[in-house]
Amino acid sequence: MSTATLTIDLDAAMANWRALDAINTGETAAVVKADAYGLGAARMARALARAGARHFFVAVAEEGAALREVLGQNVSIHVFSGHMPGDADMIGDCGLVPMLNSVEQLIRHVEALPGAPFGIQLDTGMNRLGMEPAEWQAVREIALAQSPVMLMSHLACADEPDHPMNPRQLALFCEMTDGLDIPRSLANTGAILLHPDYHFDLARPGIGTYGGAPFTEARPVVTLDIPVIQCRDLEEGESVGYGCDFIAARPTRIATVAAGYADGILRAMGPRTSLWAEHTPCPIAGRISMDLIGVDITDLGHDPKSLQLLGPHQGIDTLAENAGTIGYEILTSLGARHTRRHIGG
Ligand SMILES: *Cc1c(COP(=O)(O)O)cnc(C)c1O
Repeated sequence: MSTATLTIDLDAAMANWRALDAINTGETAAVVKADAYGLGAARMARALARAGARHFFVAVAEEGAALREVLGQNVSIHVFSGHMPGDADMIGDCGLVPMLNSVEQLIRHVEALPGAPFGIQLDTGMNRLGMEPAEWQAVREIALAQSPVMLMSHLACADEPDHPMNPRQLALFCEMTDGLDIPRSLANTGAILLHPDYHFDLARPGIGTYGGAPFTEARPVVTLDIPVIQCRDLEEGESVGYGCDFIAARPTRIATVAAGYADGILRAMGPRTSLWAEHTPCPIAGRISMDLIGVDITDLGHDPKSLQLLGPHQGIDTLAENAGTIGYEILTSLGARHTRRHIGG
């Protein structure tokens, strides 16, 4: 086999979700959009349901429909993008709860599916999704008459605890929703860790469940092992890969492994990243290619069968830092070519 193996530890994800649930003062949902951040929505959602999650969030109705098949009828499935044109059958048939973002979506929903549940998304400063304060002021009586099941908003800077945007958004969310007897939801992973004031009735963690910052206590969830295709000796002065970026400063042994940027191993991480042979780091040598990476195994003393990019020695946040991005992008980039192996759960 020449594809890499992506091992997804469902027990670790369940433990992370339970740990966040223990910190959270309200109920805790599970965000499984984008195929559960690339880790397999079906397997992950089933495991998190076993861990106790009863509310799930996805980005688009199609994801919600697939999730309903997997989870059955006893959980609620919320859709961040709300009710888009053409979604009525899917929302109705699969019993999805769209988080309506505008008056236009509200009208579309109550006309197409009168009496069907919905939530409302309010914009408190992120300017991405949701009704703005003035819009909410204008339609709120009409909207409330249709009995929304939830009011939610989203924080722009929850992973920066001291950012003044957090209390500002919290105050505006309270101003827009205080005194209404409707469940409220504001917190992602970062906001759960911020302060109980942000928890409200239902929190929506994603990245913390999957082992990423800002939940620094999280157990790592993913391991990525890449098979070695070939090893070779270089003399001093010989080069490796495109652009001859790596030039051997001494007699060097290079292993070529079977994965590259087409598998989501971002080129930008190359210069600062090692692959691990058990407990020994072996630096990447030269540029990451589409399907291949050269690794300097000179100091290892033997030819490994495979090398590890993600594991106990190097997690998603380290790779993110090396590539100038965030753990979310490392996870969601993990390629379709990897063989996914779910363990535990
Ligand atoms: C993705 C997302 C979440 C989950 O955020 P994490 O930072 O991964 O915990 C929560 N709410 C909304 C609206 C989202 O888009």
